[in-house]
Amino acid sequence: MKTISTIKEIQNVIKEIKSTKKKIGFVPTMGFLHDGHLSLMEQASRENDCVIVSIFVNPLQFGQNEDFDSYPRDIERDQFLAEKAGVHYLFVPSVTEMYPSKPSIEVKAKDRVDVLCGKSRPGHFDGVVTILTKLFHIIQPDRAYFGKKDAQQVAVVEGLINDLHFPVTLVPVPTIRETDGLAKSSRNVKLSDKERNQAPRIYHSLLQAKSMIKKGERSVGKIISVIKNDILENTDGNIDYVEILSYPELKKLNELKGTIIVAVAVHFVNARLIDNITLELN
Ligand code: AMP
Repeated sequence: MKTISTIKEIQNVIKEIKSTKKKIGFVPTMGFLHDGHLSLMEQASRENDCVIVSIFVNPLQFGQNEDFDSYPRDIERDQFLAEKAGVHYLFVPSVTEMYPSKPSIEVKAKDRVDVLCGKSRPGHFDGVVTILTKLFHIIQPDRAYFGKKDAQQVAVVEGLINDLHFPVTLVPVPTIRETDGLAKSSRNVKLSDKERNQAPRIYHSLLQAKSMIKKGERSVGKIISVIKNDILENTDGNIDYVEILSYPELKKLNELKGTIIVAVAVHFVNARLIDNITLELN
């Protein structure tokens, strides 16, 4: 595996790969890799000739009071793990490499962003689609891998790829969890021991919702209040949102049917955690 930090050098590599008609699988990340990231890389490795992973903590997608500065970083450990997962090139640009001057153009996400994280993190998805537009242009992947843990991101990226006609196949990958159910996240290390013990309640509450829905419950209000009570009674976290929407359209539902997402975001002292499940209903 080779680590590359300049756009020029990775573009030369891409030219070379393209000239041999090899398929490129791309996994964009913010690093501090865990098993969730590695499952994306392993799937990319099975489905493509060449796997390229980017590690870039993108300032554009962080709000003013968010954790850009304190986001966990460990590039040496990431290099070791990525190589083991079958990655060929690790693209690790600096902020000035990606944004040498104040951007003269930014991409704006207009659909599917008035709910969930788009609502509570204004501008977040504009930052996501702007950096992905740049990365897709640089890497020119055949397939791009995204985790379903960030289900709204998958929905928004689907819009980006369709609207801007990127010749890229979006591959959503299931959420990888700790044995107690907590979705793996780079931010989990920012939980205190007490919070870490409480955090699996988020997934527990989603499973409770799933079981209610399977048994026939169709009242969105009732399901949301069961989730909220479970989290509030069993954790010190503050609920950012609990929403049930159509997926991937992310529209409010009068009636629970079709593919739905039940999504939760909870603030702990130093980490905001998100999780979701999707269900197919008749
Ligand atoms: P991040 O570094 O948090 O931006 O994540 C990079 C990619 O890994 C995104 O597509 C995430 O959705 C995905 N990802 C993060 N956590 C998980 C997880 N627990 N399971 C599967 N994919 C994940």
